[in-house]
Amino acid sequence: MWTVVALAVIVILMAAVAVVAVPFMTLQRLPEEAKINGMSLVKDGFVSAVLVPLSDHEVALVDAGNDVEGKALLAELSRRGLGPDDVKAILLTHGHSDHNGGIAKFPKAQVMALAAEVDVVEGRSSGGGPILRWRSPRPTGIHLGRTLEDGEVMPLGPYQVRVFAVPGHTPGSAAYAIGENLFLGDSANHGKDGRLKAAPWVFSMSAAQNRKSLVELARRLASDSSIKTLVFAHSAPLERGVAPLVEFASR
Ligand SMILES: [Zn+2]
Repeated sequence: MWTVVALAVIVILMAAVAVVAVPFMTLQRLPEEAKINGMSLVKDGFVSAVLVPLSDHEVALVDAGNDVEGKALLAELSRRGLGPDDVKAILLTHGHSDHNGGIAKFPKAQVMALAAEVDVVEGRSSGGGPILRWRSPRPTGIHLGRTLEDGEVMPLGPYQVRVFAVPGHTPGSAAYAIGENLFLGDSANHGKDGRLKAAPWVFSMSAAQNRKSLVELARRLASDSSIKTLVFAHSAPLERGVAPLVEFASR
């Protein structure tokens, strides 16, 4: 009898591990580091953040990693002769904890996210989804210095950042076009087959809404030749302009 119960428990546990692990196993792995059109991708374990130089002595970040000590980001800053106070802005693609871990290490940075994501960023909502909805939200201590809206164009150093709402992974997931890069956070990924993949449903509020948002984003950017690279938080960048996004939308 107990053998049967033990076997059943093992099978259930293995299935649970598979559900969580499989979405990651099909992704093109993040490089240790990469230069992407004048910006630096910094790998922080299983997630990346990107350092965006604004001037000789100022940078912005897209997301802030998983590590609450911010070690990888601080090391990249130090290689450039910069320190934590030189980070002037942090643009969050969304509020999951593996994207905002290092924020407290950059006290001079203005933290920004879509208005629809404020509750997730500040820890009043889990953001939803089959797994994360069961985690009770806790205050993160993060204070958003500025909220963003879909369609907004925001000056940031030499850039004009274009802000796109792509709800689905979380309620206020954002994509940002900065220079020649389009940052998609967790809303999409680079699959091992070289194609763009949707967000993993198991960690997302709504897979259907995520797909709808990516299709709409493809429509808005289909004729945009200024974007050279798609940047994802958990997989390697894709360097074929917006083509992979447009191909995804047509499948
Ligand atoms: Zn996420």
